[in-house]
Amino acid sequence: MRPRTPFHERDENAGWLIVLIAIALLVLITLTLDRSTHSGVALSSLILYAGYIALASTLLLHRRRHAKRIENAQWALCPTCGYDLRTLPQRGACPECGRTYSRDAVRRFWINKYSDPGT
Ligand SMILES: [Zn+2]
Repeated sequence: MRPRTPFHERDENAGWLIVLIAIALLVLITLTLDRSTHSGVALSSLILYAGYIALASTLLLHRRRHAKRIENAQWALCPTCGYDLRTLPQRGACPECGRTYSRDAVRRFWINKYSDPGT
């Protein structure tokens, strides 16, 4: 069986990939600017801050989109594979990945993962 990333961790993994790519780009831009001009230092700091803000916003948006998708499915997506469990019995095994579930436990799992005290 080939290892797969559980559905509930995919938003985090995508987030880390974005972070790594963005940091690599920011370092590259910073190094290039610092060598070419004297004002490169201030400019590169500005680009660095802008980059971090853009990065933080992207991660937040990504997480919210993931949470919205699960909320739209009434918190009934299989945590392992993302299969929609709404039309299935209250308890059983996921037809996609075989994980045993209880819809109440799945709902609690998602609400705990994405609970936002601000809303
Ligand atoms: Zn599943």
